[in-house]
Amino acid sequence: MKKEDNEYTIPLIGLPFGHTDYQYVISDKFFGEREYSEVKNGVVNLRLDIEKMETMFVLALNFEGKVVLQCDRCGDDYEQPIEGSAEIYLKYGAANGNEDDDVIFITKNDNEFDVSDLIYEYIILSLPIHRVHQDESECNKDVLDMLYHEDKTQDVENESDANAVWSEMMKQLKDKLDN
Ligand SMILES: [Zn+2]
Repeated sequence: MKKEDNEYTIPLIGLPFGHTDYQYVISDKFFGEREYSEVKNGVVNLRLDIEKMETMFVLALNFEGKVVLQCDRCGDDYEQPIEGSAEIYLKYGAANGNEDDDVIFITKNDNEFDVSDLIYEYIILSLPIHRVHQDESECNKDVLDMLYHEDKTQDVENESDANAVWSEMMKQLKDKLDN
């Protein structure tokens, strides 16, 4: 496929009926253009198969790659392998409020469709909830040492607080008994 200024703009009217394949290599630039993206770097190979029919377009996405995320455990960046697939339907017509998330309505006046938001959305959906180095040994040891040390100090402080409260209670009880 020839690539225009925006390679993610699909010429709906110009596409032939049947299948058309698009191959993308999504890189830092793609993520960098999104100001609030939680992914800033990565390389993702994505295949987009578009089937044009009389009343709709079926968009089949398949992707795999690696993105850079921040580790929840140590705070360092790490490479997260990702993969995913999705099927989205662009249908001619009007939304009635009951359609599925994977249906997008278009009109006969829509000559083209930009798939970059869809691609971004599905990549973000494929990210794991727990974002950590695959193995704890890959984590930043200095940070972990510091965190564990802080936890210990915290425990000790809490313990002495608890002791202080307990001593105060015992003292008050003793005073009461003495009177
Ligand atoms: Zn880590």
